[in-house]
This record gives sequence, structure tokens and C-alpha cells, in this order.
Amino acid sequence: MPLTAAASAREILTGLHDVMAGRGTAQSKLDRVVDLVAEKMESEVCSIYLRRDNKLELFATHGLRKEAVHVTRLKMGEGLVGSIAAEGRILNLAEAAGHHEFVYRAETGEESFHSFAGVPIIYRESPIGVLAVQHAEPRRYADVEIEALQTVAMVLSELIAGARLVDGARRGRIRGAGGPLRLMGLKLVAGMAKGQAVFHEPRVVVEHTVADDTEAERDRVYSAFRKMREQIDNMAREAEFGSAGEHEDILETYRMFAYDEGWSRRINEAIDSGLTAEAAIERVQQRTRARMREIDDPLLAERMHDLEDLSNRLMRIVSGRMGTAAQTGLAHDTVLVARNLGPAELLEYDKRRLKAVVLEEGSLTAHMTIVARAMGVPVVGRLPDVRHIVDEGDTVLVDGDSGSVIIRPSRTLQTSFDQRMALSQKRRAQFDAVRSLPAETTDGVPVSVMVNAGLAEDAASLELTGADGIGLFRTEFQFLVSATMPGRESQLRLYKRVLDAAGDKPVVFRTLDIGGDKALPYLSSGGEEAENPSMGWRALRLSLDRSTLMKAQARALIQAAAGRVLRVMFPMISEPWEYEQARALFEEQVQWAERGNRTLPRRIEFGAMLEVPALAEMLDQLLPRLDFLSIGTNDLTQFLFAADRGDPRLADRYDWLSPAILRFLKRVIGAARQAGKPVRVCGEMSGRPLECMALIGLGAENFSITPAAVAPIKAMVRSLDAAAIRARMDQWLAKPPNDTRKALTEWARRHRVALG
Ligand code: PEP
Ligand code: MG
Repeated sequence: MPLTAAASAREILTGLHDVMAGRGTAQSKLDRVVDLVAEKMESEVCSIYLRRDNKLELFATHGLRKEAVHVTRLKMGEGLVGSIAAEGRILNLAEAAGHHEFVYRAETGEESFHSFAGVPIIYRESPIGVLAVQHAEPRRYADVEIEALQTVAMVLSELIAGARLVDGARRGRIRGAGGPLRLMGLKLVAGMAKGQAVFHEPRVVVEHTVADDTEAERDRVYSAFRKMREQIDNMAREAEFGSAGEHEDILETYRMFAYDEGWSRRINEAIDSGLTAEAAIERVQQRTRARMREIDDPLLAERMHDLEDLSNRLMRIVSGRMGTAAQTGLAHDTVLVARNLGPAELLEYDKRRLKAVVLEEGSLTAHMTIVARAMGVPVVGRLPDVRHIVDEGDTVLVDGDSGSVIIRPSRTLQTSFDQRMALSQKRRAQFDAVRSLPAETTDGVPVSVMVNAGLAEDAASLELTGADGIGLFRTEFQFLVSATMPGRESQLRLYKRVLDAAGDKPVVFRTLDIGGDKALPYLSSGGEEAENPSMGWRALRLSLDRSTLMKAQARALIQAAAGRVLRVMFPMISEPWEYEQARALFEEQVQWAERGNRTLPRRIEFGAMLEVPALAEMLDQLLPRLDFLSIGTNDLTQFLFAADRGDPRLADRYDWLSPAILRFLKRVIGAARQAGKPVRVCGEMSGRPLECMALIGLGAENFSITPAAVAPIKAMVRSLDAAAIRARMDQWLAKPPNDTRKALTEWARRHRVALG
């Protein structure tokens, strides 16, 4: 009689338990297992094939000729058994000989059997063998029978791997035959490094499959589900602040699966059949994977990926291995492997051991990338499926300069990589040494090097960058990463976190620069879209017109800076009255705070960004009203040349080092100096050594740049004679050379300025 319920699978499991616990060699145990399965499933045949020397060898059989054991061998992919192992799929055939993949082996004597069911034996996600049953009469097997076979296969994999009966089982990898593999991904953070692969979320290997106490296992799963749901809900909450590693849509899917009744029911059924909690989770996961292979829909496959993640999480919770690899600690030079990471998660790792990160996802603008850049850890992203291609402990070579990753390198590959890495590291070591040194020119001019930032994590990593503070905190980032408008409370929390993390170092908050290309889905532009959004209703223009938004931000900033110095600047000021209006609005909010008996900031410094050329003509009026001026060269240069900063056709047409721009900047910097007001340059231009050298030549001494550029800029500054470049620059401005960039490069070479 065929199996009809979990109870019958349970009978097999109990029998298996006795076989496993009993004495005898692995071979004798396999012999007993095939007898047991055949008896319980009332099948004429039960056979076990194992993978050896890349072939599938008949290892044990009940019902086929015993002479065929260790004699019959099939290539991977050959025949029914070979195709089950090669593709990790299940076959359920009423008429085996009719199947196009059937091959007949005379020595087995299997011609008298019609029906055939086979499942792969999987160890650490790789097929290591096949378990098959055959019946004389033609019949299709019921789902419960197939599931019972899968459960047996799972228990067997433990025995087989433990006894090292198959290739590579010691390390748990069969796939790819273990040779070197080169993958190309997206370069996210430059640099070269090597180490051993460590999974950010460690894999749990199921060690015990058969339960001693089914009710206890059920309790374990229930409480793991509860914990997992709690975790997912917390992650979703964190995502609101942009600090979680996962994207919101992934979290949404996680949530859907975490609360999915079907999933927990299937795990429960597997527990009913006598499996441990871990084994039950794995069983259901294997079944899902098998289904996934049959579905050719990329969208669904992506969702299944999410379920797999969640299943791993559940497994880690149930087995008490909840922490990430950061919590366990790194034992050696490590290449961290993850689907994605949050900036906070990355910061938990021991910086001395963490050499590189490889991700299945990841993007250039992700905050984790910004943090990794600040930590000097190379990152390569967009390597789909890398968690299945790499094994824990594999040697991995990461080249963040080219975006390539080599797994299990040959000796030759490794030697050539080592040579290139030595060169690259020499350069980096020079930078590392410079990062913590003061930026002072050879003739003693102190230069302030601050960084541009946008989220709390940027502030958390400030110490690592070696910068003097945050010269531009783009507050609109919080709005851009949120699905809904962040309220005053959530702004307040962020600003406080940033100020706390920055400690004694100054932070300059720029009020919202939204609109234009930084459109927010939840904020309507209130009319038709402008043809040229960067010249449109954006930044302070929008903030002044929508003053409720600006008021809320002002209050959040004032409250966050209670007892500390608050530095605020307004973007895109085009005429002095805009500054006056913005400042007045801020000062009204100070009165509001006073009325409410709130602790006020110790001092408030107000600044304006010079991004619109017209403002340069009004500096005599504006400067006396300011505490500082900040030049945003990204916008300024696009307006000066009337050349859209996002248009690739214009990207190389005008140079930041053109005399027009340099003369303009000289005038602005000179005016600020004369008025005795500090001026900082905060566009991308100042993060490039040659351009920054030119800016120093114009009299600039304060910069706010991308964090990765701090060391190269400091190295340049420390090798530069400021008086010499200023004198030369004056001559060039009076009589521009044909090619200023070339002239500056040549000058730097002659004067041994470190340009990286
Ligand atoms: C700039 O325009 O130079 C600037 C620093 O601001 P953003 O890049 O955010 O527009
Ligand atoms: Mg700007």
C-alpha cells in the first residue's frame, strides 16, 4: 500500500533513525536504508547512486542485481539518474523506458520495472547522489511518496557527507568542479584586496535531521517565526531612516512571506513527519528550489530569492546562530559575501580583517558604498548568485579598480594579482598615512578639508575619513530615500544623530534642495513641469513658497542643536532678499523655541551658497549679512556656461579649469576674503587634486569634498607651495595659456606636487 500520510513518512524516519544510530560501516547502513525504503514503500526496487569521480555510481540497491553495485556508472546528465543529479530535479514516471532520457544498463536487470521515481540527494545545495524507487506495475507516485523520498534523501546526505563517500563532500562543494572562476561586476569602491570568503549571514548546516521530540521542535519553529516577524518589522522601521541594508520593496516581500500561512504550514507538516526544526525548514526550502527551477519567470525567481533569504534567516534563528559574521568575529583576512549590506552593518566589522566586499546587489549611490569608500574597503557589486558560486573559505581576489572578482584562483592568477595589488597598496598606504595628518601646505598655509554627506551613516564614518567636519550636509537625501514626507520628529532624530556622531567637528546643514532633478513623488510641483528643471522652481525658491516645510525643518534643526552651535546654509540664493527672507523665517522659529522654553542652540551661523552667477554681483550687499559663504561649483559652472550638468554631450565641452571659471571664482573668493568672511568650495571640482590645486592658487583654503578624496587632497596640499601656485595663477589669469589644464599639470609635475 502506498504511503498516504505524514505518519508513514514518519515510520520510515524512525527506521532510518535506528539505522543511523546503529553500528556498522556507511556501506552497510546504505544497504539497510534501501531495504527499509523498499519495504515501507512496497516497491520492488530502491537504489542509491552517489557521485564519485564525477560519475554516478550505483552504491546500494534493493531489487536490482547486486553484481551491478559499484559497477554501474552513469555520467552526470546521462539517463534518468544522471539527469536528476545534473539538474537537481525530481522525476516521477509511470513508464520509465518511455522517457527520452532513459538508458538501459543490462547488468542491472531493470527492464522488468515500469514506474520510476527519483530525487536528488543534496548536500549544501549541491547534488551528491540520487535516491530512486521502481515498481513493476506502471503507476505515478503520489506527492506524499515523493516527499517521503526527499526526506530520506536529506537524512542520507548527512550520512554520506559524514562518511566522505562522495567527491568534495568534505568542503561541501561539487559545483564548478572547484576550478578558478572570474566574474565581472560593477565597480563600487576602488582598490584591490584578497581574502577568504565569509558570508555576512552565515549558512547553517543541518546536522540533525531526525527529531527526538516532535512537539519541542514545533515550539522551536513557532518561536523562531515570532522572532523573525519581529526582526522584519524592525527592519522596515529602520528603512524609514535609510539605514537598513535592504530596499523597501524587498522588505515588503519579506513581510509577505514572513506572515505567509502556507510556508509555516508546510514546515509544520515536515515536522509532523519526524524532522527536526532545521531539517523541516531545509526540506521545504529544497522543495521550493526544485519548483523554482521549473518556473521560467525572472520576476518570480527574484521573489523566490527573497524567500530563500528569509528561510536562511529562520534557520539561523532556530539554530541560535542569529548574529552576522561581524558578531562572530573575523578570524582571517576576509572578503565579505552578501546579497546587500546596510552601512551600519558594514561598520560593525573589524576593519583590520575586512579586506573587501562582494555583493549580489549594491549601487554606486548606496550609502553602504559611501561608508566602504570612507573605510577604504574595495567593493564589487551586481554579481548575481555569488552566494551560490562562492563557498565559505574560498580564496577570493577582488579588484575594485576593474570590477573583477576571481574565485579559487590558480597559482599563476594569484601571482599576477599579487604583483598588481602590491603596487596599488603601496599607493594606498601612502594615502592612509596622510589621512590623519593635518592638511597644510609646504609654506605653512592651513587648509580645511571637510566632507559632503547626506545621511546619518556618513556622519558615523566621519572619523574614518580624516576630515575636519561636514561642510555640506544635504538634508534632502532623507526626503529622497523616504516613501513619504519625513515629519519634524524624524528630521529631528536624524539631525541629532548627525550632530552626536560628529562630536566636536562642525556640521553645516544645507536646507532642503529639492525640486528640479530631485523631485519627490509625494510633493507636487503645483503646475506644469519646467523644461529646464535645474533652473526651475527648486531649492530655496520652493522652500520659501512652501514655508510650512521650511519652518518644520528650521524647528527640527534648532531643537537638534540645543546647547550646540548650529550651522545652516541656504541653497541657490539668487538675490540677497531670498537670503534675508530665509534667515528671518529661521529667526522666527528661534522665537518659537524660546516661547516654548526649549534649550536654544549656543549660536547659529548662517551661510549662503553661491551657485547662481547673479549673486556674485551682489556680494558687497550680501556678505556683511553672512557668517560664511559656500561655493557650489556643480551648479555654478553649469549656469556660467549655460551647459546642463547632466547632458553627456556637454560633459567634456567646457573645462572646470577654463579661465572664465577660474577668473569668476577668484573674484568671489577675493570678495569674501576682503569682507573677512570664510568661504568654502563644496562642489565636486574641489575633490580633484589638480582642480583643488588651482583653487588654492585662487586663494581658496576651505573645501568640502567627497569622503574618498580626503587622502588624495591632503597628499596634494602637503606637497604644495601655496605662495608659488598663487603667484603663477595670477599670471595665468592675466594672460591665459592655450590650455590651462595642461599648464597646471606641467607645473605640478615640475614642482613635485602629489596628484595621486
Ligand atoms: C553644487 O551645486 O555644487 C552643490 C554642492 O550642490 P549639489 O551638488 O547638491 O547641487
Ligand atoms: Mg547645487
